[in-house]
Amino acid sequence: MQFEPVIGLEVHAQLKTKTKIFCGCSTAFGKSPNANTCPVCTGMPGVLPVLNKQVVSFAIKAALATHCNINRESRFDRKNYFYPDLPKGYQISQYALPIAEHGYLDIETDPSGVQRIGITRIHMEEDAGKLIHDPARAKSMVDLNRTGVPLIEIVSEPDIRTPGQAGAYLRKLHGILKYIDVCDGNMEEGSFRCDANISLRPKGQAAFGTRTELKNLNSFKHVEKAIAYEIDRQTYVLEAGQPVIQETRLWDPSRNKTSAMRGKEEAHDYRYFPDPDLVPLIVDDAWIQAVAKEIPELPEEKQSRFIRDYDLATPDAIVLTSSIALADFFEETARLVQDKKRAANWILTTLLGLLNTKGISITDSPVTAGDFSKLLLLMEQGAITVAAGKTVFEEMVVSSKSPDRIVREKGLEQVSDHSQLDTLVQSVIRDNPAEVTAYREGKTKLFSFFMGQIMKKTRGKADPAIITQLLKTNL
Ligand code: ADP
Ligand code: MG
Ligand code: ZN
Repeated sequence: MQFEPVIGLEVHAQLKTKTKIFCGCSTAFGKSPNANTCPVCTGMPGVLPVLNKQVVSFAIKAALATHCNINRESRFDRKNYFYPDLPKGYQISQYALPIAEHGYLDIETDPSGVQRIGITRIHMEEDAGKLIHDPARAKSMVDLNRTGVPLIEIVSEPDIRTPGQAGAYLRKLHGILKYIDVCDGNMEEGSFRCDANISLRPKGQAAFGTRTELKNLNSFKHVEKAIAYEIDRQTYVLEAGQPVIQETRLWDPSRNKTSAMRGKEEAHDYRYFPDPDLVPLIVDDAWIQAVAKEIPELPEEKQSRFIRDYDLATPDAIVLTSSIALADFFEETARLVQDKKRAANWILTTLLGLLNTKGISITDSPVTAGDFSKLLLLMEQGAITVAAGKTVFEEMVVSSKSPDRIVREKGLEQVSDHSQLDTLVQSVIRDNPAEVTAYREGKTKLFSFFMGQIMKKTRGKADPAIITQLLKTNL
């Protein structure tokens, strides 16, 4: 029998507020355990939560950027369960009335093309703490710094069909949240994490099959691999005539497989009810409009504009719009030079190559867009060769001198003087009679040998167009 996978994703994104969702404690990462706590977030008796307005603004922003409807009235509920990292014995979340619903993202994958993935809902909630198990001392400790840190949960419709689509959806969502500056997107620190729900159904059947939920997916690659594994596993189970058991499973990246963690609690086990300490949240049009004004051009629009206005290839436009800072760097450079494509290529290969090997982000680039464009202009105007441009760039990185100064100091000006180059070509031809004969007898590949000789003598400064022409006539 042929099975069709059905996949729905739940994403938890940590919001970039300075303070927690219901108290004034800092959200800073990496502080000593329990430094960022107070009676509210440690669940002491008699305290009252106060909603952080910035959390709501960020949730509205995320909702608008993902085409959701904002509910003018929403509510906070208590999700009751016991775990040592949850001091109150319940998590404050939104259940029956979330802040936003009915959105979508359009994704593009090979070979399915453009696909619309529905977003069921976005709700706000608080994060739980962290348990630290110390095998050396046979002890467990609890760190409540993360308790009460604001999250939004973005729940997709079960519209996804392949691991590749799941990856594309997550990358797109990740990009949007970073662009609108509500989440830092740091997956290692858990600021953006995903649970994947997967089921199979016989091809052509409308009803969904039983699903499993994969937790602990903290990279796009892991999500794709874990879903692919789970599809294979469920196919195997169903083909053997066994039922898929509804359960939570964990992905183990070192063994490349999933294993059962616990049976899935039914939703009613959480005994949700409205939190009596928090009033209903009312959001008016003015608030929504104020937030809407802060939404920048989003990755998708920027990509199409780059392709249209700068004539870039789609993969190049995707990389150049991967962050606003990189896109701005490109546009600032492109504004100052004629050859926009060269600007894109030099950023994609030379600049990003350097930044990636050194582990530096574009915001900390040792070379500014202004200096980078000056370098490109020198090549554009024929003042230096491309080979010399590479040398200048390397020097710019270490010395932060301007490109003009480096060219002057290192004597890298392009040699375009016809008679000077002609003399050089003559001497190279004179010094390599064997190669000249071979070339004339048809070994035309030797052309690059002669080019190389001249470049060597001029340390890469000879105008390649003039040399090519001179060599052709003289050979
Ligand atoms: P819970 O909160 O218990 O995890 P939800 O109903 O909120 O359950 O669903 C969570 C996610 O699971 C959603 O993304 C939804 O699209 C997805 N989902 C629901 N049913 C299925 C199914 N049968 N197969 C795959 N995904 C599913
Ligand atoms: Mg779930
Ligand atoms: Zn606190």
